[in-house]
Parts: sequence; structure tokens; C-alpha cells
Amino acid sequence: MKVGFIGLGIMGSRMAANLQKAGHDLVVYNRTQSKADELVEQGATRAESPEEVAQQCRLVITMLSTPEAVEEVALGTDGFLKSLPGNSLWVNCSTVNPSFTIKMAHHAKKMGQRYLDAPVSGSLVPAEKGELIFLIGGDAADVEQVQELLDVMGKETVHVGDHGQGASMKIVNNMMLAQAMASFAEALKLGTALGISEEKLCETLLGGPAAAPFLNLKQTKILKRDFSPQFPLEWAHKDLHLAGVTAYEQNVALPSLHATKELYAQAKEKGFGEEDLSAVYRVFLSEGK
Ligand code: NAP
Repeated sequence: MKVGFIGLGIMGSRMAANLQKAGHDLVVYNRTQSKADELVEQGATRAESPEEVAQQCRLVITMLSTPEAVEEVALGTDGFLKSLPGNSLWVNCSTVNPSFTIKMAHHAKKMGQRYLDAPVSGSLVPAEKGELIFLIGGDAADVEQVQELLDVMGKETVHVGDHGQGASMKIVNNMMLAQAMASFAEALKLGTALGISEEKLCETLLGGPAAAPFLNLKQTKILKRDFSPQFPLEWAHKDLHLAGVTAYEQNVALPSLHATKELYAQAKEKGFGEEDLSAVYRVFLSEGK
């Protein structure tokens, strides 16, 4: 069966490449066409629009940046949802908020299609190695249909519950992740102000129980000032925003989430949005450091 893949950025390009290596026949679309070239050279079919993907597939995977991008690609003028054959399956791996994902599941149902929210935990390297963790919301039978594909792209599938529950788990996960990164940046700021070197702080803190394990992967980025993106800072800011929207919808107060979100907003204002989320530390560095 042909698999449609829409969104070939940092994550999508690697997930699609793994599906292709495993022998799956792909129809690919990316807004910036050049990002599809490598997959097309290896045999994938290039679609000129999301709608063209739908005309050739009964299964579509999306890996797009924001809810706005997902809405445009699914429901816009050239959107794929209206052109899919009936009872097709849309697997949305993009990180979006729970209420938005439930809205997309309703749209899909209204148009005679099936939907799974399937955001992923894991960044560039796990995407490349096929070691992502899928957090799924939707029907068990639909998960079963795509389990083989998920196993190619990932190492674990967590079926959290009904539509929206995969997105819910993901937004909670990323709220913790972005806050842990910001908290570590502040620890470095205070530690260096007290005269301890960045190297000593990293070595001591990252080996101890207080640091989130993923921070170990950010050590080299911080020490070498190599902030090339694995998880772009602008998407960490987006996730904090979406967590804030979700907290509002749930009538839940999350004070430190909102303070952290503004730190990421400052980093974006300074022009670090397309760098890795670890560049949030740059807010605390003087120019040229
Ligand atoms: P990325 O490299 O910035 O890719 C974003 C993709 O969305 C690109 O294909 C981009 O197309 C497309 N896009 C954006 N706006 C669009 C629009 N209006 N119409 C059509 N296409 C549009 O981001 P990424 O890191 O792969 O992340 C993708 C998603 O996965 C995000 O929701 C992110 O939060 C999530 N995620 C990322 C990571 C990570 O570590 N990177 C980990 C887990 C989850 P163009 O190429 O034309 O810009």
C-alpha cells in the first residue's frame, strides 16, 4: 500500500527515509519542494500539493510544525482530507494541542475518514535511528493497521487512549522538557556567576539526580556553542504556548510554565528561534561569548 508523507523537515525527512529503506512505497509532499529531492531520487513519487498525495494514497502521515500548518495542509484549498478515498487513515505526528487534535479527528470523521494523533517523543537522532516513541490517541484497530510502520520509525508505541490523549501526553512531556532546559540554563548562569566553570557545572550536575537525562545530549552544544537545531527553539516556544492554551481550556493554573514561556520568547526576540532549544542559554550570555 502506498504511504503518503507530508512534511519533510528535521523529523519528517528522517521518518520518511526509514519507511523508504524498509521498502515502503512513498508519495511525498513538502511545501519547500527541494526537501523531497533525496526521497524522490530513491524512488518516492513527488506530489505537487497535499491534495495530490490524497489522490494516490489511503494512508497519510503528517509531520508539520504548528496547528496552523496542519489545518492548512489538511483543510486548505489544496488540502488532502477532502480528496482521500473514503475510510482512509490520517496519522498526524505533528505536535499540536489536544483540543485542536480533537477538532481534526471530528473533521476527519465528518469527511468519512479515520484519524490518529501520533506525536513523537525523541529528537533528530532517534528519528534518524528509528527509535522514536509514539504517543497515540485513537482507535486500537487503527493503531494495529499502522503498527508495522510505527515499528520502522520508532522503538515504542504508547496507546494512551482516545483521540486527543496522544497529544495530551505529548504536550505534558514537552512542557517538562522545555522547563528542564530553561532551569539548567539558569543553573549555569548562577553557577558561573559564583565562579564555577561551565565544564565543572556540566560534569557535576549532569551526572547527578537533579538533571533530566536528555540534558546530557545538550552538554556539547552548550560547551562548544554549537546551537545547530535538533529541536528548534521556536517549536519549544510553540509547545509552551500550546500547553498554556490547554491549561486555560482546562482551568488549570501553571505559573512556572508561563514564566518559562517568556524566557523562550526573549530568546526568539534575540533571533535564536531557528537554533536548537539549548540556545535558550544564549539569553544569559554576553554578546560574542
Ligand atoms: P521543521 O524542520 O521546522 O519542519 C516543519 C515542517 O512543517 C516542514 O516540512 C515545513 O515545510 C512544514 N510547514 C510549516 N508550515 C507549513 C505550511 N503552512 N504549509 C505546509 N507545510 C508547512 O520541524 P521539525 O523539527 O521536523 O518538527 C515537526 C513537528 O514535530 C513539530 O510539530 C515539532 O514540534 C515536532 N517535534 C519535533 C522534534 C524535534 O526534535 N525536532 C521532536 C518531536 C516532535 P517547509 O520545509 O516548507 O518549511
